Amino acid sequence: MSQLKLLYDEIQTCQRCILAQGRTHAVPGEGPENAGIMFIGEGPGFHEDRQGRPFVGAAGQYLEELLGGIGLRRADVYIANVIKCRPPGNRDPEPAEVEACRPFLDRQIELIRPRVVVTLGRFSMARYFPGASISRIHGQPKRVAGVICFPMFHPAAALHQPKWRSVVEEDFLKLPGLLAKMEEVREEKPEPPQAEQLSLF
Ligand code: URA
Repeated sequence: MSQLKLLYDEIQTCQRCILAQGRTHAVPGEGPENAGIMFIGEGPGFHEDRQGRPFVGAAGQYLEELLGGIGLRRADVYIANVIKCRPPGNRDPEPAEVEACRPFLDRQIELIRPRVVVTLGRFSMARYFPGASISRIHGQPKRVAGVICFPMFHPAAALHQPKWRSVVEEDFLKLPGLLAKMEEVREEKPEPPQAEQLSLF
């Protein structure tokens, strides 16, 4: 079994915080293990909790539309959340819950090694840009902790407040260029493990 599948098993049986008591299913995340792009949302809502899958409600439908607009399918990208269990009544996650879940997201990022991480909303943004304001920094990619991070408004924000819709859609249109640029950099600089292998001979 892959390390990622083992991690999913761990998440599904986790009892590290009180959210475990109210869940139907934990929602570890999903997508290809070699995805170049990873989206990180906030946490499961009603439908996600029922199905054990991320972004399967209205926000997920909109995310799929946005992906389609830049020629990607849901199956091409990795989708995760900051917290893996639904908070009661969809309230915001408490800091202690985010902390309890942090090692899971850390390991997901280590295992997937995406070239670009897109944070959806405040909670995933805070992981890379603590104290930043989303209205100031959305749509501006930055290299943080060895990854290119691209902060965006949460798709649900655009669904609830139509004025954010064009902002989300404009930000999304920057992603293909960013991914292409990351691809170029990767081709110019071979991965360090290959260089190490060669030096063995
Ligand atoms: N919103 C999120 O942040 N994550 C989900 O999985 C669904 C809705």
